[in-house]
Amino acid sequence: PARIRQHSERLAEAGIDVVRVVYPDLLGTDRARDVLLGHLPTACEHGLAFCRAVYHTTPRGDVVPVAGGLEAGLPDIVVRPDLSTLTPLPWEPGVASCLGDVTDPRTGAPTPESPRDLLRTVLARCAEYGLNPVAGPELEYFLCETDSAAPGGLRRYSSATGVVYTAGLRADPDNHLLRTLRSLRDLGIGITNGNHEFDGSQFEINLDHSEALDAADRAFRLKSSVKELARAEGRIATFMAKPFNDTGGSGFHLHLSCTDGDGANLFDDPAGAHGLSTTATHAVAGLLAHAPALAALLNPTVNSYKRFGPDTLAPWLIDWGLDNRSAMVRVPPERGGGARLELRLGDASANPYLLVAAACAAALLGVMDAAKPPAPLQGYGYDTAGAPMLPTSLSAALDALEADTGLIRLLGEEFVAAYLTYKRDEVSRFDSHVTDWELAEYADHL
Ligand code: GLU
Ligand code: MG
Ligand code: MG
Repeated sequence: PARIRQHSERLAEAGIDVVRVVYPDLLGTDRARDVLLGHLPTACEHGLAFCRAVYHTTPRGDVVPVAGGLEAGLPDIVVRPDLSTLTPLPWEPGVASCLGDVTDPRTGAPTPESPRDLLRTVLARCAEYGLNPVAGPELEYFLCETDSAAPGGLRRYSSATGVVYTAGLRADPDNHLLRTLRSLRDLGIGITNGNHEFDGSQFEINLDHSEALDAADRAFRLKSSVKELARAEGRIATFMAKPFNDTGGSGFHLHLSCTDGDGANLFDDPAGAHGLSTTATHAVAGLLAHAPALAALLNPTVNSYKRFGPDTLAPWLIDWGLDNRSAMVRVPPERGGGARLELRLGDASANPYLLVAAACAAALLGVMDAAKPPAPLQGYGYDTAGAPMLPTSLSAALDALEADTGLIRLLGEEFVAAYLTYKRDEVSRFDSHVTDWELAEYADHL
C-alpha cells in the first residue's frame, strides 16, 4: 500500500488524475473502468468489480448463455490493476491506462475466459519444453467515414485507390497514418513503422517483436488505440476481416520464433534444412496440423471466412513456403537471430491474446509430437491439388476446434467450452438473419 500511494503521488505530479483500468474480453475488446486517482490505492488493494457476463455479451448487448454467466445470476469478476503496464494516454491529457488481471472473487483464481491468463498458461507449457516464444504482430485495418448511404453505414475515408506502400498525401490525404504512428509511439507500445496497404484507406502498423505476452498486450493496445484515435477524428477504424466486397481483407500476421533461456534463437540452424532447426520445422508442422482448429480462434467471425481465397495474399490452403506470401506460413528470408515464421492465417478481427496463445499452442504441439511438415510450397500457391483447404466457415472451424483434443488440452476445456458456446450462438444469430445479399438475389426474381 505504501508503494501504491507513492505511485499515486508520482502520477499526480505528472498531471494524471484518472487511471483507466483495461482488460480484454473474449472478443479482445477493451473493457475498462476509469478510476479516479484518489481511489487507485483501494482499487489495487481490493480490485475492481465487473460483471462476468461481459465475457458473454455480444456487441449488440445480448448475453449469451455461457456457463458462469446468466444462469449463475450474473456474478462478479474482480480486476486487479497491473501497475507495471501503466502508461499515460498521450491523446487524453490527465489519463493513464493500465492493464488489469481478471480473477474470480470466490476462488481468487483467474476466470477460465480470461484471454490474458489463457496466454500465460500456454506460455508456461512452452517453458516446460524450454521454449520462450517471441512474437511480432502486424495489423491491418481500414479507416472509414460513417455514411448512411453506404452498405453497413461505412465507406472508406478516402477515394484514393490503394497502391501498396504509397507514402504521404496521395493515398492518405489527411495524413492519418503519420498522426496515428506518432500517437502510438508516444503511448510507448513499441511501434516500428506503418504503411499504406493494397486497398484504398487500408493501413498496416507493425509492432516490434518481444516476449509473447508483452507482444499480445501491445497488439491489444494497438487495436483499441487506433479505434480511439480514429474516433477522435470522427472516423471509424475497422479491424473487421473483410469489410468491403470490392477490396481484400485485413490480416493479423504474426511473426513467431522461440528463444532458449539465454535468448538464443531456437528456430535457427545453419546446418538444418533451409537453415531452420528441427524445432522450427516441428513448429511449422504443428501450425499446419492444427490449422482448421486454429482458424476458430484466429479467424473468429462469420465474416473472417470471406477474407480467404486465391489471389488475396490471405491464405486459402493449409501450406507453408520459404519467403512465399501465398502460403499460410511464410518463412521470411532472414536467418540467425532473425530466423522466424510468419503465420499469415489470422485476420485483424482476432483477439490478440487468443491468436498468440493458439499459435504458440499449435507450434508447441508440433514440437511435442516431433511432427514433420510436408515439402514447402513452390511458386505461387492457391493450387488446391497441392494442399488441404482451410475451413470455409466459422461453423466448420468451430467443429475442428471441438474435435482437436491436443489444442483443447493446452487451451483448457473450460475456456474452449465457453468459447464454443459463445461462437455457436454467433453463427446461429447470423444464420437466421436475412441479409441484403439475399434480398438483392431473390426478392424480385423467384
Ligand atoms: N491483406 C492481406 C491479408 O489479409 C495481407 C497483405 C500483405 O501481405 O500485407 O492477409
Ligand atoms: Mg500487410
Ligand atoms: Mg506480413
